[in-house]
Amino acid sequence: MPINKTEAFILRQSPFRDSSKMVTFFTRDFGKIRCIAKGARRLKNGFGASLEIFSHCDIIYYHKDQRELQTLAKSEILHYFSLCRLNLHKTACLDLIVEIVDRVHLDRDRNISYFDLLHQIFYQMEQTDHNHFKMLSYFILKTLDLLGYRPTFSSCVRCREALVHADAEILRLSTEGRLCERCSLHQEILLLQEPQWGSLFTDLENLSLEKLLQEKQTPHFKKEITDFLIKLVSPHLHQNAPLKSYEFFKNVAFA
Ligand SMILES: [Zn+2]
Repeated sequence: MPINKTEAFILRQSPFRDSSKMVTFFTRDFGKIRCIAKGARRLKNGFGASLEIFSHCDIIYYHKDQRELQTLAKSEILHYFSLCRLNLHKTACLDLIVEIVDRVHLDRDRNISYFDLLHQIFYQMEQTDHNHFKMLSYFILKTLDLLGYRPTFSSCVRCREALVHADAEILRLSTEGRLCERCSLHQEILLLQEPQWGSLFTDLENLSLEKLLQEKQTPHFKKEITDFLIKLVSPHLHQNAPLKSYEFFKNVAFA
């Protein structure tokens, strides 16, 4: 049986049978995998705190192609993100992020760029004390980009007519991106009125996290854009159900 060694972030963990745990990882070299950590719920076990959600670990597991659940041999913690765990806003944000990761990826779909994105988001989240909302926006758009569904904001997604950012006080949006006035007539759309949209969309389109983090937005605006981004990513989720952690996120972030 081959032994695989890789870096991973923990997306989920739950009790399995009497004394074990089932852990979902997003790994650098093998994409999303699910493992059984045998005996991980016994008082004395070799895994310690290395199986907590959000942790960044070095793992070793036994791999069998025909098996859905792999066997975890070892997990060593690289970062526990203790500051994130102490902050309710960060926790709510990471909860939503790991649920999105879990739901947009099928098992064993290797994507190193996606692993790098998670790495960037987790470590930035641990280091900065604000801007969780913008990191979430960046994360969702980057997810769509890396999966091949990058939305367009500078032209109409239907007729391709170029749309100006500067005077964009009213935005017509579908789940694929922006629409011109004509194309938006016969479609269910989201209509937004905020002078800030124009410059934000330029930054989102360029996917520049650095620029995004510099700008200030009102709470109402944050809520609207987050709702919109969740609508954008929802058609690409596996399992036909709303994101469970989004309710919690909204209660924490926009209360
Ligand atoms: Zn159009």
